[in-house]
Amino acid sequence: MKNPTPHRAVFIDRDGTIVEEANYLHRPEDVIIVKGAAAALKKLRRAGFLIFIITNQAGIGRGYYTEADMQRVHRHLLGLLGNDGATVDGVYFCPHHPDDRCNCRKPSPKFLFDAAAQFDIRLADSFMIGDRIGDLEAGRRAGARSILVRTGYGYEECKRAGSKLPADHIAKDLPAAVNWILKQK
Ligand SMILES: [Mg+2]
Ligand SMILES: [Zn+2]
Repeated sequence: MKNPTPHRAVFIDRDGTIVEEANYLHRPEDVIIVKGAAAALKKLRRAGFLIFIITNQAGIGRGYYTEADMQRVHRHLLGLLGNDGATVDGVYFCPHHPDDRCNCRKPSPKFLFDAAAQFDIRLADSFMIGDRIGDLEAGRRAGARSILVRTGYGYEECKRAGSKLPADHIAKDLPAAVNWILKQK
């Protein structure tokens, strides 16, 4: 029988959203978590949200670094978050070059649909947070609400797209986005 109360989830972009944007980040020692991010994840958890990181890692497809490099970065990132008591339920990554025309690179909503199927998530009650228009589109295409953060490329995206931004909300950073989510019905 299907769970009568499906989960709500927050899907979070990695670079520029949960970690400081660093061009093609691939070394654990370069991981800098956005201030207040761990505490924000803990708030989401307490409110009953599942939490996923959804990241485009075209640096792998471009040959700038390997999937093993990325996994080391992820282990380090999850370790740092864990030290502050924050956990995530999954990390989905697209390793492909943008020219590969894969079906998983954001703005594709594929990973949101995959997570929804695997974890019984109601996407209409879920959120996507990111610093790029592709993140916002992925959330919208999955039927979730999208929030732009002004960290990473967010400020530039905001200036470039203006009122055409496919966002339900614009927040200063990840903690501010989470505070907004917790106020929504
Ligand atoms: Mg980003
Ligand atoms: Zn892909």
